[in-house]
Amino acid sequence: MVAHVPTMLAMIIVSSLMMAASMAVVGWGRRRDGLGHWALALLVNALGHVLLMLRGQVPDVLSVVIGNALLSGVLVAMIAAINQFHGRSVRWWLLLAPTALVLASVTMLMDNFAARVGLVGMTIGLQSLWALAAVLQRRHDAVGRGHWLLGAGLALEALVLVGRSVLAFGLPDTELNILRSSGMQTLTFLATFSVVLVSSMGFVFMLRDRADENNRVMAALDPLTGVANRRSLIAALDRDVARSVRTRESIALMMVDIDHFKHVNDQYGHPVGDQVLCSVVNVLRQRVRAQDLVGRYGGEEFMVVLPDTGLVGAEQLARELCKAVEVSRCRVDGVEGGGIAVTVSIGVFGGRLESGDSWDMLIAAADRALYQAKENGRNRVEVATGLRRPSAQAGADANPETQPASSY
Ligand code: GH3
Ligand code: MG
Ligand code: MG
Repeated sequence: MVAHVPTMLAMIIVSSLMMAASMAVVGWGRRRDGLGHWALALLVNALGHVLLMLRGQVPDVLSVVIGNALLSGVLVAMIAAINQFHGRSVRWWLLLAPTALVLASVTMLMDNFAARVGLVGMTIGLQSLWALAAVLQRRHDAVGRGHWLLGAGLALEALVLVGRSVLAFGLPDTELNILRSSGMQTLTFLATFSVVLVSSMGFVFMLRDRADENNRVMAALDPLTGVANRRSLIAALDRDVARSVRTRESIALMMVDIDHFKHVNDQYGHPVGDQVLCSVVNVLRQRVRAQDLVGRYGGEEFMVVLPDTGLVGAEQLARELCKAVEVSRCRVDGVEGGGIAVTVSIGVFGGRLESGDSWDMLIAAADRALYQAKENGRNRVEVATGLRRPSAQAGADANPETQPASSY
């Protein structure tokens, strides 16, 4: 199949302009995600193809030299966009080096068509591989489908351009002539059209994948302390409770509440209170195992979920946590002395579960123990007397492991 090249060029120009305009509108004011640079790449792509289309109607220096340099510039802006997306610095002088090479070599090879096509194709093909490497060198983002789509678009571009440059030496000039409707030109422009669409969609999907990931993290974490928030704590506890019922393994839960925290706020102010909350969270996190989950249940109250843990182990850990918080100091700028000291009270539930037991029963049990710890003087650990099951008598529990243990 041989397509009408001027029509294909027009399609590339119009689609690039439309997408550039859409991205410019949507990305207006969002300077750091690379969308602006990608819109610039599409605009340069449209301009470059306009100049190619005007071959013979404008001076060759415009159509051939500037036109090819602009096509190389498309990859410069794309790599800049990808680097900006990944938070890397954009070194323009390095990115523009291949474009300078295209400018110089096309100027020198004006009379050697095959060599010109070969060199330009090879340079832009290698720039596409450079862009592909920039996509794959991601540091923080989970690999989403946007990455793969953009990578596929760039790989296709590299394949077609490098292939074209290799073939340039074997094909007659008529096959490569820019405006002649030949098989080679049909393939080149068809690929260019697809690459523009696929890689631009890939880039936009990369942005969307990142936004989704950020939303997921924000929905799961407490913004002040960075630990699990109440919603993800309950989801994790629900999962662990179901597993514990199934496997008959013990599970433990702690409710940790800072003592007289209101006084800290009253004495030092809320911002310092916030720092104290973070400091207590750090003490807790440093001492639990990798499989345990520390989260903020609300206010100055934290929860620790301990899968596969019995009451004895949980109570021992709770004592260690209580002691560790007591001896730790939260160092705050402007507060004299060795820092702010706080203590915590901890309510612990631990034991095996039965079918029908649910996460809220565990929380209620640990909460009752916490209340007891407050009643008994604070800065201490109390353990739950068992789960309150709807069918059982209040406070009774058939499981000996959930019977009361001594407090300290
Ligand atoms: P108790 O020993 O009985 O637990 O006394 P308490 O003062 O710790 O408990 P109370 O429930 O009376 O007060 C909790 C305080 O925690 C009140 C509230 O302003 C404060 N608080 C809750 N969330 C935050 C927060 O995010 N930052 C700061 N700085 N304070 C908070
Ligand atoms: Mg408190
Ligand atoms: Mg409280």
